[in-house]
Amino acid sequence: MRLSRYFLPVLKETPSEAQIVSHRLMLRAGMIKQNAAGIYSWLPLGFKVLKKIEQIVHEEQAKAGHIPMLMPTLQPADLWRESGRYDAYGPEMLRVTDRHERGLLYGPTNEEMITDIFRSHVSSYKALPLTLYHIQWKFRDEVRPRFGVMRGREFCMKDGYNFDLTQEDAFHAYNRHMVSYLRTYERMGLKAIPMRADSGPIGGDNTHEFLVLAETGESEVFYDAAITDLTFGDRSVDFDDRAACQAIVDEWTAPYARTDETHDAEMFDKVPEERRRTSRGIEVGQIFYFGTKYSEAMGATVVTPEGDRVPVHMGSHGIGVSRLVGAIIEASHDDKGIVWPEGVTPFHCGIVNLRQGDGDCDAACERVEAALIAMGLDPLYDDRDERAGAKFAGMDLIGLPWRITVGPRGLKDGKVELTCRRTGDSEEMGIDAAIDRIGQIYSVAS
Ligand code: ATP
Ligand code: MG
Repeated sequence: MRLSRYFLPVLKETPSEAQIVSHRLMLRAGMIKQNAAGIYSWLPLGFKVLKKIEQIVHEEQAKAGHIPMLMPTLQPADLWRESGRYDAYGPEMLRVTDRHERGLLYGPTNEEMITDIFRSHVSSYKALPLTLYHIQWKFRDEVRPRFGVMRGREFCMKDGYNFDLTQEDAFHAYNRHMVSYLRTYERMGLKAIPMRADSGPIGGDNTHEFLVLAETGESEVFYDAAITDLTFGDRSVDFDDRAACQAIVDEWTAPYARTDETHDAEMFDKVPEERRRTSRGIEVGQIFYFGTKYSEAMGATVVTPEGDRVPVHMGSHGIGVSRLVGAIIEASHDDKGIVWPEGVTPFHCGIVNLRQGDGDCDAACERVEAALIAMGLDPLYDDRDERAGAKFAGMDLIGLPWRITVGPRGLKDGKVELTCRRTGDSEEMGIDAAIDRIGQIYSVAS
């Protein structure tokens, strides 16, 4: 993409309405525009990151054997009357009446709808186990929408629902979700810690939240520092292997890690003092096992091998897709701007031309751009007629992890400069060497 043709409305001033750094940087970097309280447009740069996050979620769900689909944002009120949540949900639910006076609502979550779909089509244990999920916008009329996309009213969530014959099967589905989430967050450059959580209005007694440690997080968290040393890495997992999934869950749930809602001071005191940590965290996901709560209320039953008809065991599992964009920035920025982890960066590499209009510089930049595109990468070429300082500041603000700088001086010796956004380190090298290096970083061949 050529910056001169792109839509990147960066702000020079720091927006005064933004209280936290991710919100400020998203506005300044031209990623989002607020349309109403807690309701945002995703401008091209923000939209790209959102799609990257969705893509990682899809890939990791596929590995776990979970099946993507799409349910609507608007749901009939009658479905929610069946579960009893139409009245219970309260003012957070946006209720709408259509021209025929029928009650609708903008979905805050989808347990009722997915249970309705399930009961319409499944009646035998043979269809189980089954996990369906979608990535869809939700609406919750939060009392205090704030912190930009971190606590919006309209926000994007991945929500998945498992259907199983027995509690034991459903626990395996729970474990599959925990394992797949661990890798999902890690691919986004995040350390998200599973913490035992409170079941809240959805109900049930087996639930974990995933929290990213950050000063600006809304939850107070207590944990054993040992958990921050765990990494998932690229270990291969057989998601049908119950013992293997359980072992990973055990590994991540052994160290103490809880939010203020479930914190147990006595247990915490047993953690060696030097490893006891109190901090704040951003909730980026949650998994729940809630048994037959919805299947019983809504008649989602299957016939067992013995011929009995029983309600299915269910759970729901969410990832805060749009909140993650803010959470990643909270976890990865400096005083110059965003520092995108490679896994979610909107463009793989920036190209800065220090003398736009100079035949050699232009040709070299175009060569770098074409080579990166040919490798399947997505570079952003700053081809504007601007001062070098302004171009560097812009690139630092939008946070691309790598930058190739082309200037007349280096080019005389056939050299360009490769700069790492995170460390600020620069290295002079030949054009092809720089292209190869970017290819290696993203594991694509030149
Ligand atoms: P919170 O406690 O932050 O209000 P929640 O527990 O009500 O969230 P869940 O029902 O668990 O939310 O939804 C799954 C995920 O969706 C959350 O872990 C969070 O990452 C995200 N999420 C929830 N509410 C919002 C919101 N208002 N804006 C953005 N993301 C949200
Ligand atoms: Mg939650």
